[in-house]
Amino acid sequence: AVAASATDLSKVYGQGETRVVALDQVSTQFHRGEFTAIMGPSGSGKSTLMHCMAGLDSVSSGSARIGDTELSSLKDKQLTRLRRDKVGFVFQAFNLLPTLTALENITLPMDIAGRKPDKAWLDNVIETVGLSGRLKHRPAQLSGGQQQRVAVARALAAQPEIIFADEPTGNLDSRSGAEVLGFLRNSVRELGQTVVMVTHDAVAASYADRVVFLADGRIVDELRSPTADAVL
Ligand code: ADP
Ligand code: ADP
Repeated sequence: AVAASATDLSKVYGQGETRVVALDQVSTQFHRGEFTAIMGPSGSGKSTLMHCMAGLDSVSSGSARIGDTELSSLKDKQLTRLRRDKVGFVFQAFNLLPTLTALENITLPMDIAGRKPDKAWLDNVIETVGLSGRLKHRPAQLSGGQQQRVAVARALAAQPEIIFADEPTGNLDSRSGAEVLGFLRNSVRELGQTVVMVTHDAVAASYADRVVFLADGRIVDELRSPTADAVL
């Protein structure tokens, strides 16, 4: 099944002399249970693709779909709800609230949305990301890698259809980065999640099932890991 897709997606910023074609007719599919890395030089359109796919930015032409839903067909309110219910985000800055415990941070988006977390799922997520012994700690009492794992668990907790991660290991040393990537990969393998990750780092990309290379707003190459067939 397809969790999200882009079809002839183009994004143009500005006009006249400041006109920039950030994405030029990009088409790709993100399958359920697949971990995709998006790589490419600075300015190649990686963030723009993620923002368009996540409904954080509008497309200029073509379409971005989450499941069967074309994002441009939604009104603002419907889009906000879709993002809240079906999309998880992990950013480079962890965006954790310092006064809340790890567990409170993880469940905060659901608390705000007035949704009760599925306890079995939540336990599974916490176990998968390896935070069982750290739930009462506040962010300042956790390492960078543990804080990023809290951010990953927060994105997973609401059982989103797809998670977008923008350089999730950008602020971490290589050991903590490897931990977080391992947990992202586990969440794909063991929880059946779909993850799309932007990265500059070939080591980070090696954790993915599929790597999509962007240059000048186009997909110029695509690699699939030899073990990825087991997932699809
Ligand atoms: P990447 O994430 O690969 O570094 P971006 O998606 O951020 O690339 O940017 C792609 C292109 O679009 C770049 O040329 C960038 O300058 C341009 N761009 C991105 N965001 C904006 C914006 N809000 N306004 C104008 N141009 C933008
Ligand atoms: P950048 O790529 O420029 O560093 P971010 O990726 O942090 O910026 O955020 C891009 C946009 O997404 C911002 O306008 C921000 O307000 C918005 N945003 C960040 N987190 C969320 C979220 N969880 N839900 C909805 N919008 C978000």
